[in-house]
Amino acid sequence: MARKILFLFLFCCSVFGSGFTMEQFKWPAGVSFLKFLSDNEIPSSLYYDLSPEDQELTTEIAAEASCEVLKDEDGKIDQILIPISDELQIQIFKDAKNKYKIDFTPIAYNESTYTLGVTIENSPYIDINAATGNGFLANAFMLMFNKSVNFKNLRKGDQIALYYTQRDRLGQPFGQPQIISGMIEENGKSNYLYYFDSKYYDERGKMNEKFLFKLPIPGARVTSKFTPKRFHPVLKIYRAHLGTDYGAKKGTPIKAVGDGRVSFVGKKGGYGNTLEIQHVGGYKSLYAHLSKFAKGIKNGARIKQGEIVAYVGNTGLASGPHLHLGLYKNNKAMDFQKVVYTAKENIETKEKVLFQKFVKEQNQKLQKAIGGHNNPAKFVQFDNFIEL
Ligand SMILES: [Zn+2]
Repeated sequence: MARKILFLFLFCCSVFGSGFTMEQFKWPAGVSFLKFLSDNEIPSSLYYDLSPEDQELTTEIAAEASCEVLKDEDGKIDQILIPISDELQIQIFKDAKNKYKIDFTPIAYNESTYTLGVTIENSPYIDINAATGNGFLANAFMLMFNKSVNFKNLRKGDQIALYYTQRDRLGQPFGQPQIISGMIEENGKSNYLYYFDSKYYDERGKMNEKFLFKLPIPGARVTSKFTPKRFHPVLKIYRAHLGTDYGAKKGTPIKAVGDGRVSFVGKKGGYGNTLEIQHVGGYKSLYAHLSKFAKGIKNGARIKQGEIVAYVGNTGLASGPHLHLGLYKNNKAMDFQKVVYTAKENIETKEKVLFQKFVKEQNQKLQKAIGGHNNPAKFVQFDNFIEL
């Protein structure tokens, strides 16, 4: 408790030097943006005055998202920052006339590349977490090697080497790391994986993806691509589109992009009728603006890849009938078009030279990482979250 007060105190003094206080809170599960506004006595016109695209974006606020609130000396809200992705946040603030305004602003973060060397003492997850204080990284590593390594065969003293990028913000890891290459010994035998063209491959160029997705509406035209953050030069605002839109007539059947289990079925803010399917490997697919769901679609239902799960519509904030397809890995929105199934499973000849050069460079980095002499400083958790 003493540390919590001290940390908040230091934070307030160093940043504002006045009676203003900055606090962090986690977005409450199941609370819509509109409900949040009314709960905090912020006018709902802030939401209704947004364009339909921006209203739709507010649906992307994830449960447990780390938000920040700045309060004045009377404890009234002066400013709130709510992340909708790793790139963009909703900023609510008071203008000079003391009126609340809303804006979409880029999130400030640092991004660095690191090497990490860890010797197995307990398990890869425990040992990576202990070395870095970064649970995201430990998790990403387990998912990455899940298919190619039998973790039960590991022995004490086996080595792990990683080369990865991680964003950080306010002294904490922010968003998912991207592991660029990794090595793990399995009872002394080395296994390598390399991230090339948005997929993992082994050293021979064989694709190592646990999961390959198929198109939800084969042959449909992409009408809007995935865009993590884009500055609109005319409107002078930041925009994002955290999914892929497929144009199709109302009632067109939609197929599940992969095997999984229904994790949400119902209305979801600007997305209207929405279906979510949880897949292996931390993936989740989201189908929005549906006219109706297929028979037997309910929470927990098992779904096969290619099975008809719903029908195209224009419910929620859709100007015309289309499917908005979202894909998330560990709750981070990603570009579905990059992981959709293609016939090729191996690096093709024309890419081979580039791939081999990449492997060589990565192996040098991994070799230097072994032993952990260049490991990054460990993240330390501060217990300064409050409940709103
Ligand atoms: Zn969309």
